Amino acid sequence: MVNIFYLCIMASWLDNSVKYVAGVGEQRAKLLEKELGILSVGDLLRHYPFRYIDRTKIYSIGELNENMNTSLVQLRARVTGIGYAGAGRKQRFSAFVSDATGSAELIWFQGIKWIEKSIEVGREYLIFGRPTFFRGELSLVHPELDLVEKALSRKSHSGMQGIYPSTEKIGSTLGAKGFYKIICNAWATAEQHITETMPQAVRERYSLMPLKEAIYNIHFPQSAEKLKAAERRLKFDEFLGVQLAIQSMRSDRLSKNNGFMFPKVGELFNTFFGEKIPFPLTGAQKRVIKEIRQDTISGYQMNRLLQGDVGSGKTMVALMSMLLAVDNGFQACMMAPTEILARQHFATISKQTEGMNLKVAILTGSSKSKERRHALEGIASGEVNILIGTHALIEDKVQFSNLGYVVIDEQHRFGVEQRARLWTKNQQPPHILVMTATPIPRTLAMTMYGDLDVSIIDELPPGRQPIRTYHYTDAARLKLWGFLRQQIAKGRQVYVVYPLIKESETMDYKDLEDGFESIVRDFPLPDYRVTVCHGKMKPQDKEESMRQFKEHEADILVATSVIEVGVDVPNATVMVIESAERFGLSQLHQLRGRVGRGGGESFCILMSGEKLSREARQRLQAMCETTDGFRLAELDMKLRGAGDINGTQQSGMAFDLKIANPTLDADLLQTAREAAIWILGSDPHLQSPQNTTLRELRARHAGKQRFDFSMIS
Ligand code: ADP
Ligand code: MG
Repeated sequence: MVNIFYLCIMASWLDNSVKYVAGVGEQRAKLLEKELGILSVGDLLRHYPFRYIDRTKIYSIGELNENMNTSLVQLRARVTGIGYAGAGRKQRFSAFVSDATGSAELIWFQGIKWIEKSIEVGREYLIFGRPTFFRGELSLVHPELDLVEKALSRKSHSGMQGIYPSTEKIGSTLGAKGFYKIICNAWATAEQHITETMPQAVRERYSLMPLKEAIYNIHFPQSAEKLKAAERRLKFDEFLGVQLAIQSMRSDRLSKNNGFMFPKVGELFNTFFGEKIPFPLTGAQKRVIKEIRQDTISGYQMNRLLQGDVGSGKTMVALMSMLLAVDNGFQACMMAPTEILARQHFATISKQTEGMNLKVAILTGSSKSKERRHALEGIASGEVNILIGTHALIEDKVQFSNLGYVVIDEQHRFGVEQRARLWTKNQQPPHILVMTATPIPRTLAMTMYGDLDVSIIDELPPGRQPIRTYHYTDAARLKLWGFLRQQIAKGRQVYVVYPLIKESETMDYKDLEDGFESIVRDFPLPDYRVTVCHGKMKPQDKEESMRQFKEHEADILVATSVIEVGVDVPNATVMVIESAERFGLSQLHQLRGRVGRGGGESFCILMSGEKLSREARQRLQAMCETTDGFRLAELDMKLRGAGDINGTQQSGMAFDLKIANPTLDADLLQTAREAAIWILGSDPHLQSPQNTTLRELRARHAGKQRFDFSMIS
């Protein structure tokens, strides 16, 4: 008791609420919590800039032009006049400024009252914002302003100003400058309370910058070198915390010795293998099934990641291993990321096991009451052996009588907490098989998903057709239409896929609808039958449209990327991807994997606009050059390093990483792994006093997983 109390006090100063930081207060504290998850002063100081701008650099208006690659600039210019336009909510306020080289317009749509009061015509300001051009005229919308004298007299920590990850709400209440000020204030009060957390031996062995210096330099870089060292130190801390957690999970899991035993290769497995299986297994499929079998007779709980390229036949491995579980008296379940995919798995597996003594049920968010009741009652009573479904499987209502085996398809789409809830559905954690088409190195996989072993299917089933990939711009659309008509005349089927990105969903649906309409117009009945499938349709309509396509009652399926995972129509040989530049490489590869499944020579056509970023061009080019999923995945990681890695990429990850990026910082990740093994080698439970802080580090970065370590895949 005393000990715990003591620890709490030790850790406490930085845990103070962020509301006490000057410039924050109750209201903003609430906003910071809600928008960015920042609760304490420590959280605020761990909110690191994602890039920096050089505040010592001042551009002249004349040197700015449309083709520059700077997103934020600083100008020094005099206000020559102001003006208003519009009325009511459409009102805008402009200030006209000029320097010796040219003039520009500053524009505000909000906060006009305040800004017009504070701006003085005739005075010189430092102006900071994003340059935009309209008909060659420079303007800046909602820039920041500072009177030149004032700005010059203010002393600052560093010429490089951090730009912080933010949200729209934070941006509009605080602005970039406001946020920076708060960070400065937080630093001023917290500085004296920051104590070193890394044991000296570790710091020396890995040449790490002291913590306080690192935090100072990450917010206020004193030089490019110092910034680099600061980043390295802070990333190392995160990785080490994660690696300590993973190693502890592992030893925890292995020490428990509580894995369910599947010793029997029983009737179901044998009947299926002997009579039902529709094709011979590939060597790789056989090997993986053996690996799973080894795990499930070891006495330890299995945590296995199965990597296999699109179309490599992971579903068959899943089914056969589920049969092993059922043969041994356990129930199995399989969770898929989308309704369509779950229904498809259900249909395939039901058909393949027809006539066997096996009950398979399905449960999804849109299951009707009868289907739902059948599933829920069946698994609770033990009558149902295999349950297939979506996220609906993790609801509390879903009570298994004896769950022993869990398969999760296309892993990356599930959050860790969701998965963890699935393992708690039996007293002992079930064996877990996680399947993914994204090949990733093991250390990285562990950092993303936790402690696990990896199996790989590195062989495609025989009979796969080569896929030729081409990139066209809209100018070639007529030619493309001609090609599609040709293919359809040969009896082939075509996918046309539109992107669906959450942030611009409405616009995306508009694109899809417009596209669908024009395709219907250009491919009229009775020669062409076109159907459509997207997330906004009712489940039964989606299903009907998929059925039509599957049974070749439709020649063209227009869809959003919902078909990305799992749809299987061997006669479809052409995949057209619209606005292909908006998809990531692995997504493009997944989509392409829908064709080339046996119906003859296949094609993937990437459509894009004329104007492409360099990165997008490289992605499309890579797609045209190779169909090797591993090579594409590698390239993807490299390319994404150049792009915006903030947030999105890491969401859904098992661990709480703020600055370290397991793909980009792979070497450091490896170093941290080695460090964790080294540290735990002499202090397996981190019990020695000098390692107390490491225990906290482990707890912090494993922070998202508030579960028993052994229950995490
Ligand atoms: P994925 O690994 O992408 O999930 P699937 O399990 O959907 O791949 O398999 C893709 C296709 O390959 C399916 O039509 C499946 O029936 C078929 N398939 C799987 N294994 C074999 C095999 N050993 N021989 C022939 N076809 C196979
Ligand atoms: Mg699959």
